[in-house]
Amino acid sequence: MTPALDLTRREFLREAALLTVVASANALPTSQAQDMFVQTVLGPIPASKLGVTLVHEHVMCDFIGAAQTNRHRWEVEAVVKRMLPVLIQVKERGVTGFIDCTPAYIGRDPRVLKQLAQQTGLHIVTNTGYYGGADDKFVPKHAYSATPDQLADLWVEDVAHGIEDTGVKPGFIKIGIDEIKGSADRLSPIDEKLVRASARASRRTNLAVTCHTGGGPAGLTATKIFIEERADPARFIVAHSDGHGLPINRAVAALGAWVSFDGIGRQPLESHLKLVHVMTEKHASRLLLSQDSGWYWVGQQNGGEVRNFNYMIDVFLPALHNSGISEATIRKLMVENPANAFAIRFHR
Ligand SMILES: [Zn+2]
Repeated sequence: MTPALDLTRREFLREAALLTVVASANALPTSQAQDMFVQTVLGPIPASKLGVTLVHEHVMCDFIGAAQTNRHRWEVEAVVKRMLPVLIQVKERGVTGFIDCTPAYIGRDPRVLKQLAQQTGLHIVTNTGYYGGADDKFVPKHAYSATPDQLADLWVEDVAHGIEDTGVKPGFIKIGIDEIKGSADRLSPIDEKLVRASARASRRTNLAVTCHTGGGPAGLTATKIFIEERADPARFIVAHSDGHGLPINRAVAALGAWVSFDGIGRQPLESHLKLVHVMTEKHASRLLLSQDSGWYWVGQQNGGEVRNFNYMIDVFLPALHNSGISEATIRKLMVENPANAFAIRFHR
């Protein structure tokens, strides 16, 4: 009987923690609720309607590289068919906001995301920007000769007129940076250019920037460059911070940027619980949680093995609640912080 009892208890905790979170999803201050919007692939919604949100996930990825990736490598219908049930599962668990972090040249396809948003009712958000992680394999050639302002122009153009021929507008900017081996706190010229371009585009559009960060010191340096460009640190999200260590996490939060623990489920449960406990002591309002999960893997049979998005709701949040984190704090991490991070002043 124990397993059944266990299941019931787990289900109860999940319900208890999550129902409160969902029920309070509209509890943002009214000034924000009135003025601030999140740009989804189906158009703008009030930030107060975003609800329980996963801030860093992937519907699809194509890792062949910037020189070779193109729309002919996948079929929209096949990707939608494969990913629809996976997204329905997470919607059924009370998640309503889904930030898709796949950038241009790694398989970002607004056509896919739009269909999935229509068919699931999820608020899916896509991005503009270039990814300089993974030794710059996904940086298009023209970025090397462009100035930071020219790159910012291209991304602002997406915000104004939509991505490619889709009419879908990005709701944030996604960039990526590596660390330089031997001098971890310095950025390569191209990566530094991407950070500066993202800061300038963010100043012009008010969009948030999610920065894939291949190392803590590089992430801290990127945050400082963002601020040096006079962009608002509250528009900068340091992704993959769960691998960066507490001193860096605290420094990033103290500068006013977001610390994103987006590898939930990829480390043992206990270690992530500990990380969240320590960060929420002083910096609960600077912390974001997600799983970096998914995706339809272009080039593999039927998208390969897709990791679902269920762990956060099924395992992590109940465990977090059970370990003494209050419902109010869980609501902050899953509802209020994502809305604050991705809310933009309305641009028509
Ligand atoms: Zn990712």
